[in-house]
Amino acid sequence: MRIVRVTLTPYECPLDPPCPSDEPRRGVILTLEEEDGACGYGESAPLPGFGLETLASSVAALRLASKYLLGVPRERYGDAIEDLHRLAPVMASPCARHAIDLAFHDLMACWSKKPIARLLDDLHAVDEVPVNAALPRLLREDLVKAAMALSAEGYRTLKLKVGGIPIDEDVARVRAVRDAIGRDVRLRIDANRAWNEVEAIEALRALGDVGLEYCEEPVSDPEGMARVKNAVHVPIAADESVVDLDSARRLLESDAADVLVLKPMALGGLHPARTIAGMAREHGADVVVTTMLETPVGRRGALHLAASLGPSPFAHGLRAGCTPWPEDHMEHLDPPASRTSPDVGRVLRIGYDDRIAIRMHEWRQRYADYKDQLLQEEV
Ligand SMILES: [Mg+2]
Repeated sequence: MRIVRVTLTPYECPLDPPCPSDEPRRGVILTLEEEDGACGYGESAPLPGFGLETLASSVAALRLASKYLLGVPRERYGDAIEDLHRLAPVMASPCARHAIDLAFHDLMACWSKKPIARLLDDLHAVDEVPVNAALPRLLREDLVKAAMALSAEGYRTLKLKVGGIPIDEDVARVRAVRDAIGRDVRLRIDANRAWNEVEAIEALRALGDVGLEYCEEPVSDPEGMARVKNAVHVPIAADESVVDLDSARRLLESDAADVLVLKPMALGGLHPARTIAGMAREHGADVVVTTMLETPVGRRGALHLAASLGPSPFAHGLRAGCTPWPEDHMEHLDPPASRTSPDVGRVLRIGYDDRIAIRMHEWRQRYADYKDQLLQEEV
């Protein structure tokens, strides 16, 4: 059995407020088809402003890479995934590599009759992944109401965006949320590099007694992040700074972060993300898996990655506050099945028949309105 057809299906979908962009979300679904008609699905969705890859460059890279993908025999899918970072057309295109990596994993999961998470690590994979709820930037009163509503829905980890407003206002907003939700709900904040070093230290010292789980990306440079981490008691998570294996290694070796946030789309797929997760653990750091607001195809891959890493002390960021995809309303954001760990809050579940292909099918059905915009291209 081998790959006999490679197709690219572009999509475009407007993002509803309060998403951080007026631009529609754009990407491309990659389909790798075997001789018997079995398909594996992957996705490339570069996020403008996040890295140098554009959708145009990613599609061009996938077109060039397709001639290397055609004819790859089934027994070489694993090698192909491991060699992707050496494949010239996609070397500088992590989102394109992610698409190929996920599509191969999807096919391997299909014929091994296991979900991707168990294919990646049968021994440690879990079936339920705790997820946080992310709150958009809102006025203080609205933020408190939204946080209380999510807490009442059963979320046990909330994430707030900070930065871009005076520090005392941010501190007051975070304190107001903490006072409203109590200490049983975990609270993390994300500055998205909005602060300089002095501001970050001032803000995190002022929030020192609020009981924050961590602060994501307080400043833009890893050296500054290490100094901030040294100066405050709030744990620090690196997100935008984790772009590849080398950047992750530098962050860990300079002790700049307690937690690495891994976006498989930004890192070139599930395989490199797992390599970084292993390295983080060797350094005593934790990892949290998130997405780049891609479709349920890519997000399902991220869920399987998170599940493959086993039990985590942190909820993963797989439920964005503003994803536009209809499937968000279909996913099983349930209380955990196990009554022994009720404090993890809402979880996403993985079933044994859980394949990217099923999600793709559902997504296409739900997207009937957008079918006119889907122009499939065989490459
Ligand atoms: Mg972040």
